[in-house]
Amino acid sequence: MIIVLKPEITPEEQAHLIQRIEEMGFKIHLSRGEHRTIVGVIGDEEALRSTALEAFSGVEKVVPILKPYKLASREFRHENTVIDVRGVKIGGPKLVVIAGPCSIESRESLLQVAKVVKDSGATMLRGGAFKPRTSPYSFQGLGEEGLKYLREASEIFDLPVVTEVMDPRQVPIVERYADVLQIGARNMQNYSLLSEVGRTRKPVFLKRGMSATVKDLLLSAEYVLSAGNRQVILCERGVKGFEDSVRNLLDLSAVPNLRGLTHLPIAVDPSHATGRVDLVAPLARAAVVVGADAIMLEVHTSPEKALSDGAQALRPEALRRLMREIAVLEQSMDVVRKIESEGAFA
Ligand code: PEP
Ligand code: MN
Repeated sequence: MIIVLKPEITPEEQAHLIQRIEEMGFKIHLSRGEHRTIVGVIGDEEALRSTALEAFSGVEKVVPILKPYKLASREFRHENTVIDVRGVKIGGPKLVVIAGPCSIESRESLLQVAKVVKDSGATMLRGGAFKPRTSPYSFQGLGEEGLKYLREASEIFDLPVVTEVMDPRQVPIVERYADVLQIGARNMQNYSLLSEVGRTRKPVFLKRGMSATVKDLLLSAEYVLSAGNRQVILCERGVKGFEDSVRNLLDLSAVPNLRGLTHLPIAVDPSHATGRVDLVAPLARAAVVVGADAIMLEVHTSPEKALSDGAQALRPEALRRLMREIAVLEQSMDVVRKIESEGAFA
């Protein structure tokens, strides 16, 4: 449930309220909004209902959160969450483009791609060092060596970096090098991994499982949030469909759907959704129009030589072209949002 505090509550009243709730064994999550503070109380709501929380001075109202996910829900936090990754704000007014190779293949190739990414105007770099491959015989990633190259590229080009962590045992090492920890689609429901990244202070980029519902995705985010990490970015990357000419089926409706249900930032990955380079730009453009906060794109300077996912990698010139198209669409979306907000007050 959430407890909405009166704007004029004194620090003593607030401390008293929180102390009482914690004494009863509940976890507290304070959310300071622009106008008022909301106390999220996590635990068995039945036990709390018998306590007359409304009677505490400084409490305006007590509202149960009916959704199974609490901290992730829009009821818990009305304003959109903005996640600041070394100055790049995900969830704010500006769309963030995260681009880079599927796998970190070598120092030289990564630095080459990082330069392309920087010059294109994208503001974050991606690259996998621990790769979740369908076959155990495929390239599994460079591990820590790759993470070192990623950190170096990050410093040289001043780009925050996101990279996947596949196993709870890898969290300390990946956390040391990465700015954002990616949880891949295959691990979306690896609850011990979610709890482990929840204990870090690094933002988490959580990809939707290929057979997961929007509700499953939000419950996975809840694992991270309830472990204490409030910085989660949700990513739609396609779900299993019956169409076999594409890798997955990009569920673009997930973006406005999630927007109503959660305050967390929402990203779209058209590269893994389609697996086809010819479909990446059209779906990236569509993602801007449905209101994504971030787009993740795979890029390679020689896709035909890529050690993974070459078929979906944009060449440098295609990335540059797409970035120009995105800029145009973003401007149009600013106008669309203005019209939309006029509607809200009509
Ligand atoms: C990736 O981003 O490198 C990746 C493996 O994506 P997904 O988990 O969405 O398949
Ligand atoms: Mn990939």
